[in-house]
Amino acid sequence: MKQKILQLFFKLKKKEIPEEYIYELENYSAYYKRLNDDLKLAFLERLQIVLHSLNFTSETGFKIEERMKIIIAAALVQITFGLRKFVLNTYNTIDIVANKYTYEGLNFFMTGDLNTYEEIITLSWPHVEFGFTVKDDALNVAIHELCHALIFEDIHGSLWSQFLETKKYKAYEYEGVKKLNAIRQGENKLLRDYGGENMIELFSVAVETFFEQSEAFKNQLPELYKQLSVLLNQDPTQKENPILDNSITGY
Ligand SMILES: [Zn+2]
Repeated sequence: MKQKILQLFFKLKKKEIPEEYIYELENYSAYYKRLNDDLKLAFLERLQIVLHSLNFTSETGFKIEERMKIIIAAALVQITFGLRKFVLNTYNTIDIVANKYTYEGLNFFMTGDLNTYEEIITLSWPHVEFGFTVKDDALNVAIHELCHALIFEDIHGSLWSQFLETKKYKAYEYEGVKKLNAIRQGENKLLRDYGGENMIELFSVAVETFFEQSEAFKNQLPELYKQLSVLLNQDPTQKENPILDNSITGY
């Protein structure tokens, strides 16, 4: 194992990718840890690009550490690892806050949200960290909010550079609507009931479960799992090589 990590360090040096990425990913990302060496390198290369493309702010004065940026950027790389496009153009400002928060007029606390008006994603760091530390509860606020970002970028962005292919989205949506209705009729299993709010929440909740309870999802909701796999071009149950069609990703 040590030898393998050393080889990876060597390759990274050639590509000028900071070693700190590996330390943090090995520590936090169950997804990254399972990848084979070639895909780890591809993940690290995309991570570097994503990190340069995101603006991290802390409006409350919370001190942002490098590992926080790495972990949040890694959530985006994970979701989009099977896609051609993986950089956010519009929702690329991430405000990290020290704890859960609320807004005027709301009577509940939030751990993250995407403000479509200000085009900012807000994330509570302890909840982001918890999302990656507890790896199998299908709760991951960074994955959740970044899935919203993908959907809104595709709604407002150019038809020529979409994250999700329309045809594949339609096939997923067909299964998704069935699931949405099942949740609303109280016949839910596996996914959190919150997915029954609307199709945008269903996508986020489904992707959280896709990564953190992959086997159960595949067994209990095979059609929805299949369409989500095709849509994201990956199957996380194929642990070391989740990519389905590598002509899309080039790796
Ligand atoms: Zn949401």
